[in-house]
Amino acid sequence: SVEIPPDHPRYRSLLYRERLIEGMEKKVTAPAGLIAHGRGEAFDYLLGERTHPHAHTAIRQAAFLLLTSRHPVVSVNGNVVALCPEELVRLSKVTGAPLEVNLFYRSREREEAIARVLREHGAEQVLGVGAEAVIPELSSERRRVDPEGILEADCVFVPLEDGDRTEALVRLGKKVITVDLNPLSRTARTATVTIVDNIVRALPLLIEVIERHRDDPSSLAVPDYDNKRILAEALSAIVHHLTATAHELAD
Ligand code: ATP
Ligand code: MG
Repeated sequence: SVEIPPDHPRYRSLLYRERLIEGMEKKVTAPAGLIAHGRGEAFDYLLGERTHPHAHTAIRQAAFLLLTSRHPVVSVNGNVVALCPEELVRLSKVTGAPLEVNLFYRSREREEAIARVLREHGAEQVLGVGAEAVIPELSSERRRVDPEGILEADCVFVPLEDGDRTEALVRLGKKVITVDLNPLSRTARTATVTIVDNIVRALPLLIEVIERHRDDPSSLAVPDYDNKRILAEALSAIVHHLTATAHELAD
């Protein structure tokens, strides 16, 4: 892999690209995952590459749901594990929610490669490898889930998920928390709680909030939480950032 000079103005962005390329070499990330990452980067530019107040609100509500659900599960795919493996393991430990490999492009090789990376980062148990249960209404390999994990869960954390599968989980009555930089995606619009932020910024913040409020989770609940309003605020943040930048350029 290439050496990225730390003084490069896009150092962090290049570093995360490099992690995804390494993920692909290790068979953790699917080729289409690189395209999804590029779309995420474009939305991050439009948001000014920072965590906005609407994302902090969604993070609080997500922390509340993860701490108060009977059986939460942390769903893991190739992009998320390539970008932030330590944080996934920490999130699982602080919430008691098991990690489950859940792939759009499923193959036994990728499932095992992802489980291996999670174990290298301290995971004791990884569900979903060779998963046999199915989500009704979804076709083919996209619907396989672990009978002890997502199938039984009342709350699923599914960052960077596909819209179809998010819809299926919501239809099964589960609370769905996602992280998605695109406030217009079907995933963002269907989930119970949408954190419109980069996973690399949102996950450490989510863990911090959970650690701080582990003993009084009810204090985290956002009164009258409305996910549609969160998405509207995310779109307004983009408009605001673009308008401010346009004024700067024109001055
Ligand atoms: P949908 O199926 O929900 O309508 P889509 O088909 O456009 O969305 P997918 O490839 O299914 O997109 O899902 C990947 C999503 O993850 C995209 O919306 C993309 O913006 C988002 N994404 C990619 N990288 C990141 C990241 N680092 N942090 C947060 N979100 C990201
Ligand atoms: Mg999709």
